[in-house]
Amino acid sequence: MTNILVINAGSSSLKYQLIDIDQEQIIAKGICERIGIAKSVLSYKPANGESFEKESPMKTHEDAIKLVLDVLTDKEIGVISDMSSIRAVGHRVLHGGEKYSAPVLIDDHVLEAIEECIPLGPLHNPANLMGIRGCMAAMPGVPMVAVFDTAWGQTMPAEAYMYALPYEAYTEYKVRRYGFHGTSHRYVSGQAVKKLVALGMKKEETRVITCHLGNGSSLSAVKGGKCMDTSMGLTPLEGVPMGTRCGSIDPAIIPYLMGRTGMNTQEIDAYMNKKSGMLGVSGVSSDFRDLAAATKQGNERAALARKMFCYKVRQYIGAYAATLGGVDAIVMTAGVAENDAYIREMILQGLEYLGMDMDWEFNLSCPRATDLEITKPTSKVHVYVIPTDEEMTIARDTAELALNA
Ligand code: ADP
Repeated sequence: MTNILVINAGSSSLKYQLIDIDQEQIIAKGICERIGIAKSVLSYKPANGESFEKESPMKTHEDAIKLVLDVLTDKEIGVISDMSSIRAVGHRVLHGGEKYSAPVLIDDHVLEAIEECIPLGPLHNPANLMGIRGCMAAMPGVPMVAVFDTAWGQTMPAEAYMYALPYEAYTEYKVRRYGFHGTSHRYVSGQAVKKLVALGMKKEETRVITCHLGNGSSLSAVKGGKCMDTSMGLTPLEGVPMGTRCGSIDPAIIPYLMGRTGMNTQEIDAYMNKKSGMLGVSGVSSDFRDLAAATKQGNERAALARKMFCYKVRQYIGAYAATLGGVDAIVMTAGVAENDAYIREMILQGLEYLGMDMDWEFNLSCPRATDLEITKPTSKVHVYVIPTDEEMTIARDTAELALNA
């Protein structure tokens, strides 16, 4: 058994998964919540055992990691005998700027670079650093790897990543498209490319559009396995509307609304990131399950929010077909696209001109969250539903860098 610990640290939370990379199996996972706040809680779910939750003080991310290690090695409910069986740790890191286009072994330079990118990821990068430093303190000598959400977007050509602002916005302030959800787009596009190669295509010629549709949503245009464009930008706000984010809007709306309402920069930021999207339009919820239920009961704004979402996703697919000069496969992944067959149908209906022959019945009846094709076997363009697996991808990257060096 070769165990890799995967960590996703937020400002007051820390998600963890212990993965046996030989078998590619999750051994245990869980989350520490309310770190640095009263009533911190650790939850723990071993693959072969009962879930467990306990309130326990965690002032820092280091305290949280120590509690995770304690529970993983606990004599009764633990899954490993001691900490030394954890061979490496993989950290999800939001922003690597233009410096990192691939995962990297963490050393002092990498820590500095993550710190330098704090202005670009002001909420996430400091939290990611706390997770890394906490692990380093609790697990001295264990190799750690950073897997950046932005690394995927680094292969985009300049015409795709530049904004038409004065050039200094890029050189002085690093304003450009970076893109996010990189680990997910990389994993699912890789799976789609494998399928296309098995059908006889050359890898370099494959054209894939990946749709990561969850609470946060983004699309990516992928040629020969490389990102050519992606819908999120300098921040995760750009692109399609999301659970609580507005997605792309006329930028002049911002000064207009600030002038009319008196909102300051933080308030307008929260307005667009936390109060908009499906929640803002429907007034019901950011969750697509609630929107579906409200639509069934005749709520018109919930129906409108879903239609707006599908319309924008469909437009991006059309745009990315133009970017790629055609398309061979479209991938649907993440919470919404893996589970909600009606949303898939609403997005894909009307796109048949791209060359797909949909199996609409199978789309509605197929099992949830499994790896499937929802086009007919003879279809020229394939539509795959592929469950994303960001943690396993981080664990694979970590093993490759930390153990094969
Ligand atoms: P993220 O990682 O961006 O937080 P996920 O990819 O886990 O999000 O997706 C979460 C979202 O998936 C939920 O907010 C919900 O809208 C949607 N979702 C989950 N299950 C279903 C379902 N059965 N039907 C429709 N939507 C679902």
